[in-house]
Amino acid sequence: MTQHNSPEETIFSRIIRKEIPADIVYEDELALAFKDINPQAPVHLLIIPKKIIPTTNHISKDDREVVGHLHWVAAQLAEQLGVAHDGFRTVMNCNEYGGQTVYHIHLHFLAGKPMGWPPYQERLKTA
Ligand code: 5GP
Repeated sequence: MTQHNSPEETIFSRIIRKEIPADIVYEDELALAFKDINPQAPVHLLIIPKKIIPTTNHISKDDREVVGHLHWVAAQLAEQLGVAHDGFRTVMNCNEYGGQTVYHIHLHFLAGKPMGWPPYQERLKTA
């Protein structure tokens, strides 16, 4: 069957269309949440919009509702998972310095242990 994928599509579009498996924990008309394949905490979910928005830099005025919605989903999941009181971290990486590897915005939801701060390590400088 012919596929009509946009050049902006990533692996996350295929997860949204259920073409590849993911451990989905939440879905509605705007968003999907699933377990990160390489978890960095006891709970590590990715909350993504169904609309393709490649990076934070691409968020338009019209996208404010959907981006805010990702945080609302985080709050619902925190309550469901029983981590709201202890706390958790949500983070959205942007471009190379932010550590972004998949260019479809996603809110990382990390919970289940205390998080360190600051969240970076200095990169070794070459002479
Ligand atoms: P980024 O580095 O862009 O902030 O985060 C991308 C995240 O997506 C990483 O934490 C990575 O483990 C996760 N990831 C990449 N490919 C897949 C996949 O096919 N399935 C799932 N569940 N997670 C993925």
